[in-house]
Amino acid sequence: MNPKAAIQLARDGRLYPALILHGSSGEDRQRFALELARTLLCERSPGKRPCGKCPHCRRVMWPEGEADTFHPDFTVLERDLRTVTSVAAAKSFLRGAQLSPFEARGQVFVIANAETLSGGAANALLKTLEEPPTSAPRHFLLLAPSQLDLLPTLRSRSLALFLGAAARPRDEQISDLALGFSAALVAFGRKGNRAELLAASSILKQAGSWNEPRAMASWERAAAVVVEASAHEDVSRYQRRAMLHLAADLLRGPSLRVRGIQAERILDGFVSRRLESSGQGEGGGEGQARR
Ligand SMILES: [Zn+2]
Repeated sequence: MNPKAAIQLARDGRLYPALILHGSSGEDRQRFALELARTLLCERSPGKRPCGKCPHCRRVMWPEGEADTFHPDFTVLERDLRTVTSVAAAKSFLRGAQLSPFEARGQVFVIANAETLSGGAANALLKTLEEPPTSAPRHFLLLAPSQLDLLPTLRSRSLALFLGAAARPRDEQISDLALGFSAALVAFGRKGNRAELLAASSILKQAGSWNEPRAMASWERAAAVVVEASAHEDVSRYQRRAMLHLAADLLRGPSLRVRGIQAERILDGFVSRRLESSGQGEGGGEGQARR
């Protein structure tokens, strides 16, 4: 399904009750969630939804909008803790789903950072999704960078709508980290000192936040740092090959995380496994390392 088809289904009142909006940027996900919500709540005839002018359309706003323009049947759950959407916040949000709509013909619930739902919060949501709505139609929009960031049980209860490839997030930071990462590896290639490998690994740690075990985004950013670093000219050919293997390893990080291994340890493990022997400078031109 594509965004256009989703709008059409929303106009016709046939949209799936739980939708994952993933991909593209955070702003795009918000914008599309608002458009869908307006379509679902608009009072005009189906073909004219969303009209953008009726009392429903005008009051469907992201929460930071002015307080007097809110719609009682449109609710947004935002992350309440630093990196997590807590079970307490989720439960109070879901209480609204037990009520009938106040004004519109249905209700729309948006989970702004579905990738940060705690285990308990995700389960509370799952329970609500499994209950039939009390009266009027009720829609849940789960926003996340990737649908893979959500629990499989949530994914199986929802339809995923991909909004397009993500613009590479904060390129500058990735470039800066890549510069530091390649410099540390070049130093390692020259001196063969493990401290340089650890320095390289700690640079990768800055690529993400690592708090949410299932979140893929940090691993993708770390992989992007390694790929970009591998293109730097003072990296030896031998190191370059090892770095591309490392980038592939990094994308498997979440599968180790969910087994309870700390992100820092996984990063150190990947880096030393792939790059320890690359410090020998085998056929790599400038890397004349000796231990
Ligand atoms: Zn309208």
